Amino acid sequence: MNLRVIRKKAKSLYTRSRIPGVSWSVNQYVGCVFACRYCYARFLTRWRDYGEWGTWVEVKTNAPELARKRVEGKVVMSTVSDPYQPVEAEMKLTRRVLQYMDKRNELSILTRSPLVTRDIGLFKLFHSIEVGLTINGFTGKEKELFEPLAPVHRARVSALKELHDAGLRTYAFVSPIIPGVSDVRAIVEETRDFAGYYFFEVLNLRASGRNFRRLLREEYPESYAVLTDEEKFRKFLRELREEINRLGVRAEGIETHQRGWEFVKL
Ligand code: SF4
Repeated sequence: MNLRVIRKKAKSLYTRSRIPGVSWSVNQYVGCVFACRYCYARFLTRWRDYGEWGTWVEVKTNAPELARKRVEGKVVMSTVSDPYQPVEAEMKLTRRVLQYMDKRNELSILTRSPLVTRDIGLFKLFHSIEVGLTINGFTGKEKELFEPLAPVHRARVSALKELHDAGLRTYAFVSPIIPGVSDVRAIVEETRDFAGYYFFEVLNLRASGRNFRRLLREEYPESYAVLTDEEKFRKFLRELREEINRLGVRAEGIETHQRGWEFVKL
């Protein structure tokens, strides 16, 4: 596949975030070649006219200089891209952003990529940092259908362990949870020794796009029914909460995406 790289100079790097508990988001890249079929970032960047999602990446070439700024409150990297997608291996933009960033900023990194372990040495320079891996357990048919180009489950689990073993604060972002498909218990059992805490998120059906909704309706009609029927969804959520509570792990809660951002405490 030919990747289109769009180089731009940005005016700022820190953007005010509406995510609960997050003050700033940082996206040195916009766009992502992992091209997950349900990706919400596709929806958030829909006004950019660069072609099909997953075929382009916008690069903020001056991001490292802009990163120097000292900001108060939690900073999340990244929300409309993956900071360790393949282009990063060569470009090292995320690495340079981390090198320049004010180390007093409270940073939270999220990725699906094992490339993140390359920067363990840099992470250690921050006063307050956590590094999370998105882990959803998709393998086989689900991997092929939902996120064929993203790193495989095993590689993400190993990366999380390596980060933890290096002494870093880690978390597992269990997302997207799809009723009847995701095995939350199995994910927790596999990662509980090296995930500092968990954040759970049910699939945001609305933001996943028309094509993904069709795919889910055709391939997993029962899952689709749960996500679109209020009563079924309530039952599913109740059972999910009970299951997570039984697992007894530290967790921030469950983002349900019912009526916009809707965060359910455990
Ligand atoms: S890795 Fe994240 S940003 Fe990239 S396509 Fe997948 S969901 Fe979207």
